[in-house]
Amino acid sequence: MNLIEAIKNAGIVGAGGAGFPTHVKLSAKAQVFIINAAECEPLIETDKYLMRTFPNEILKAAEAAAVHIGAERKVIALKSKYQKEIEALQQAIVETNSSFQLFKMKSFYPAGDEQTLVQLVTGCSVPERGLPLDVGAVVSNVGTMLNVYQALQGNPVTDKYLSVVGEVAAPVMLHVPIGTALQDCIRQACPRLDEYDIIVGGPMMGKVYRGNAIQELTVTKTTGNIIVLPQNHYLVRCEELSFASIVAQTRSACIQCKMCTDMCPRYLIGHKIRPNMVMRNLYREKLIKSNDEYEKIFGEAANCCDCGICEMFACPMSLSPRKVNIFIKKQLAARGLKAERNKNPKASADLPYRRIPTERLVARLDLMNYYHVHAGECRTFVPDRVSLLIKQHIGAPGVPCVSVGNRVQKGEVIVRAKEDSLSASLHASINGKVTFIDGERIVIDKEKE
Ligand code: SF4
Ligand code: SF4
Repeated sequence: MNLIEAIKNAGIVGAGGAGFPTHVKLSAKAQVFIINAAECEPLIETDKYLMRTFPNEILKAAEAAAVHIGAERKVIALKSKYQKEIEALQQAIVETNSSFQLFKMKSFYPAGDEQTLVQLVTGCSVPERGLPLDVGAVVSNVGTMLNVYQALQGNPVTDKYLSVVGEVAAPVMLHVPIGTALQDCIRQACPRLDEYDIIVGGPMMGKVYRGNAIQELTVTKTTGNIIVLPQNHYLVRCEELSFASIVAQTRSACIQCKMCTDMCPRYLIGHKIRPNMVMRNLYREKLIKSNDEYEKIFGEAANCCDCGICEMFACPMSLSPRKVNIFIKKQLAARGLKAERNKNPKASADLPYRRIPTERLVARLDLMNYYHVHAGECRTFVPDRVSLLIKQHIGAPGVPCVSVGNRVQKGEVIVRAKEDSLSASLHASINGKVTFIDGERIVIDKEKE
């Protein structure tokens, strides 16, 4: 079986981010293969744990993938402050006779943004709304490479490593079956509060969940981190503001200082995106009837990657250009507008001087109390029930191939990837019996001995 078939059969999707099916990504040919090990959002521990614990496996899989895509240049990009991880990878490079090189970066946000990373490693800016492949690069991450290694041993994706940090007594790395309830994961870290909210992912691009919504959440192939927070934490309060209030605040308080644009990482790699202009024109958004005019005024919001720098760091008035851009992107889609793309952007000379040091960001986000507290050793936890989302990746959902009452073994296919589509299979993550299926989920209960 070749590499791509093994990856497809194992149901691998990008272990972070949107979950792009890996067999499609690695089917490309490219000159540069970059393993993204930046883990640029503060408080996430998972990739560092994987690099310290499985460096040989990651490098063997990365080497196989690099050969497949025909890469001449192969790098693992990580922060120079990750000393233990650098030592582990350097030793593994020698032991596995790997031709990968380590590309060390300063500690800044968003070092792990795919387009920022590609610009840094290759010196080329990815076109607006384009892919790294447009400049001859393919980017994957360490969690995905570990899954590729497992696929080459015949093991599909059934488990996930994730960290649980924040307002907890015992921050922890967990190894759990996909479909494990997030509340079970949080309990493993002993939350300090009876009532709390959480962020799934990092503090900048992760999603805030509150109250009962937390009970519904389960681990997916892309879950890498849970941050437990007090309900009155700054990051939770930021989510409370209604869009009407955001618009009203923008109208009355935007001083057009342009800091949101000057600090925007996409603007700095040469993309046409000026959030200050979107903010300036927001007051008349509802009044613009002509699509041409709408696209001219708001079209560049489509180049926003939601990194959050404008609203969480740059804006001195605590306004929310990111949320406004998200709103505008929906309006552009509803009007069927696709702004023209600059396919040959050039990075600004100011780029190296406008990177945001991670520590300053952490202080701004009021996360200093949790920043230097690291997850302990990894613990494996297997619940009696898993609830697996049928769609855990971008593209088309697969097709369930089990019914209620079926007995399944861990690793058995329960959702088959849709043929000829951007899709991925899903496998049972524990031995048990299928007890529930709807259009969204498959529940498997462990059978009593
Ligand atoms: S940084 Fe804030 S105040 Fe300044 S232009 Fe942008 S939105 Fe307006
Ligand atoms: S969220 Fe703000 S800073 Fe980030 S890409 Fe969008 S406009 Fe730029």
